[in-house]
Amino acid sequence: MTRFDPQALLSPRVNALKPYVPGEQPRIEGLVKLNTNENPYPPSPAVITAIHDAAKDHGLALYPDPESTDLRRAIAARAGLTPEHVFVGNGSDEVLALAFYAFFQQAAPLLMPDVSYTFYRVYGRLFGIEVDLVPVDAGLRIDLSAFESRAAQDCAGIVLANPNAPTGCGLPLSDIERLLEACPQRVVLVDEAYVDFGGESAIALIDKYPNLLVVQTLSKSRSLAGLRVGFVLSQPHLIAALARVKNSFNSYPLDRLAQAGAKAAISDEAWFEKTRQAVIDTREGLTLALEDLGFEVLPSQANFLFARHRGRDAADLAARLRQQAVLVRHFAEPRIDQFLRITVGTRDQCTRLQEALRKVLAT
Ligand code: PMP
Repeated sequence: MTRFDPQALLSPRVNALKPYVPGEQPRIEGLVKLNTNENPYPPSPAVITAIHDAAKDHGLALYPDPESTDLRRAIAARAGLTPEHVFVGNGSDEVLALAFYAFFQQAAPLLMPDVSYTFYRVYGRLFGIEVDLVPVDAGLRIDLSAFESRAAQDCAGIVLANPNAPTGCGLPLSDIERLLEACPQRVVLVDEAYVDFGGESAIALIDKYPNLLVVQTLSKSRSLAGLRVGFVLSQPHLIAALARVKNSFNSYPLDRLAQAGAKAAISDEAWFEKTRQAVIDTREGLTLALEDLGFEVLPSQANFLFARHRGRDAADLAARLRQQAVLVRHFAEPRIDQFLRITVGTRDQCTRLQEALRKVLAT
């Protein structure tokens, strides 16, 4: 009799997937957590009130609005668009997955920078999409002419983060337009998870380009990583395609609490401005401090810094910082394995990081 093989129950694509490293979310007292680009400030107090109001009385016994109408209206109004230009989902990770499923399963490779957000490759693998990694230049910046020449052959589309992750480097809108024009028959997905910390948003280009998909999240600049809300802005024909895919999986994409909390966050412009400016100001100070400690720091338009020490190994530094209860992110990947990605925390957290670094560098 042949031996039972549990792996054989899984489809080959699933067997090839590696699970996400759970070590990035440890529960340690007094931890300085600068490893997953969360916002160090709480969300607007209006979010908590809205969630409470949505939950009280009979609220949770009822199904949520399947169209997230009020939330889509609020997002659209802020972007100067209509609700037909907006699609929402459980974090931008989910909307990215749906977009990959809807647009990039084509008979040609999907183009993305070789240094980019790891999950793009995961979704490629999950959905059987061939991926062509376009090398970034020596300064880890996206190489536009390399994209243009690859896109001149057939491609399934282009996906990139702007500002890029994990480098934090941003492209101006004129460069995004070059990519849109290089790939007019396919979707160009611009992931703007970090755009509110100093990047240029491509929302302004949506009317002009029928192939542009802009993805944003409430996880970073709105301090709502725990609520799981992300959204897409684009012309209505692409939004309708995403809705078709979504309805085949789950016709209630956002729960009642997420819809209420997200709408309140979008509506509190003053809180948004205050917290995002605090992150930007702290980022500038932290950049100088890291340079003083011997790091080369890439210019960042995000809520994190990508930095390489001139004399010390990055994996070793990350491990020693962890012993001091300070978490930063190290990627054991080609080209970037000598860098650390450090989330901009509160001033106090950044001071604790510097103290820990001084200790580690003295040993
Ligand atoms: N895009 C990029 C570039 C990211 O860094 C992240 C967060 N790690 C995401 C998307 C996903 O964010 P969320 O699912 O929390 O919206």
